[in-house]
Amino acid sequence: MSTLPDVHAAEPIPPHVMEDIQNLMQSGDLFRYTAPSDAPVALLEAEFANMLGSKYALAVSSCSAALFLSLKALDLPRDARVLIPGFTFAAVPSAVIHADCYPVLCEVSDNYRVDLTDFEAKLDETISAVIISHMRGHTSDMDAIMSLCNARGIPVIEDAAHSLGTIWNGQNIGTIGKIGCFSFQSYKMINAGEGGILVTDDADLVARAIIMSGAYEHNWKKHPVLQDAFAKWQNMLPLYNLRLSNLSAVVIRAQLPELARRCSDGLRNHDYLAQILNTSPYVDVPDPLPAETRAPDSIQFNLVGMDPHQISAFSKTAADAGVKVQVFGASADNARAFWNWKFIPNLPELPQTRKMLMSACDVRLPVRLTTPELDAIADVIFTALKASLTQTIAAE
Ligand SMILES: *Cc1c(COP(=O)(O)O)cnc(C)c1O
Repeated sequence: MSTLPDVHAAEPIPPHVMEDIQNLMQSGDLFRYTAPSDAPVALLEAEFANMLGSKYALAVSSCSAALFLSLKALDLPRDARVLIPGFTFAAVPSAVIHADCYPVLCEVSDNYRVDLTDFEAKLDETISAVIISHMRGHTSDMDAIMSLCNARGIPVIEDAAHSLGTIWNGQNIGTIGKIGCFSFQSYKMINAGEGGILVTDDADLVARAIIMSGAYEHNWKKHPVLQDAFAKWQNMLPLYNLRLSNLSAVVIRAQLPELARRCSDGLRNHDYLAQILNTSPYVDVPDPLPAETRAPDSIQFNLVGMDPHQISAFSKTAADAGVKVQVFGASADNARAFWNWKFIPNLPELPQTRKMLMSACDVRLPVRLTTPELDAIADVIFTALKASLTQTIAAE
């Protein structure tokens, strides 16, 4: 058996980045607004918008910051209700609370996507905005969601933190809603440690977001956006200072040419492991939606017909053998389990989402893994399954 890979080790940043970093260190010019033009952050924004086919991009300190600024830029009233999926990372309801809004949770299906029946039922006249979180890169039915939201005039923010490179019906994920937000945190497709970016085609909206991100005084002049939109908002908005540094931008820009390869390697690895795991009657890796071409760097699967003791024995046995299988609902204080979002007042119960989380497994799958390494991961999962199935409730 081949040795197991370290699934937390990052892919190296392309070495040619060192030249740009050295120049930056030499100049000491780390602040995005010092140079009159062509600062690395500004170049990143132009390249990213162009790459996705959006008119405007604003680079910020994290995807959470991008989500927060998106809500602020929509100018929602205090306590506005924002509909979000019940399966996402805690950063999403946190951004809603931070923006003085109230998160309304809807059910998610056992394929990790928004349950459209519950979504439509909760999309009533009390909802002011929607955040669709493409959790772990699983795309919800954006055609159905956009038509429901457009019919009611409700703006959609896409949380595409973990979806960079995913395609929906030929269109880049993050460009379907009014605003798309992405992350450059280390566990995402492009790794700068921390960082985020938002894209939109709406000049007025991006102007507001740019000013609030910390383009104080006339720094907005360094953004190529309709200048009328900015002049209107000068001194009218608070400055939250959520800017990205030039150093991060250099590290991100060096990885943009790697993105297409990372996405295709990630999809190849995911589909290879999915097809092996799906041969077990105890495992179900949900199919993508027909409109979706995924860009995964992890795999999720549901355990079928196993009780909670067997599920916890499985997770423990796999971890002991060197493969961390996180059961979203079973690990303590998991930030993706909605019942741990106790900072939300009147947190609702979501029985269907809870049931999914109790048997849904999560395994990191960095795009650099080789076929023998994927085979080794599959072996550990199958061995752990076999061992856990011999467990009975009394064995605990
Ligand atoms: C990582 C992640 C975030 C948060 O991104 P940060 O850049 O760390 O703020 C939000 N939503 C999802 C779905 C994520 O995976």
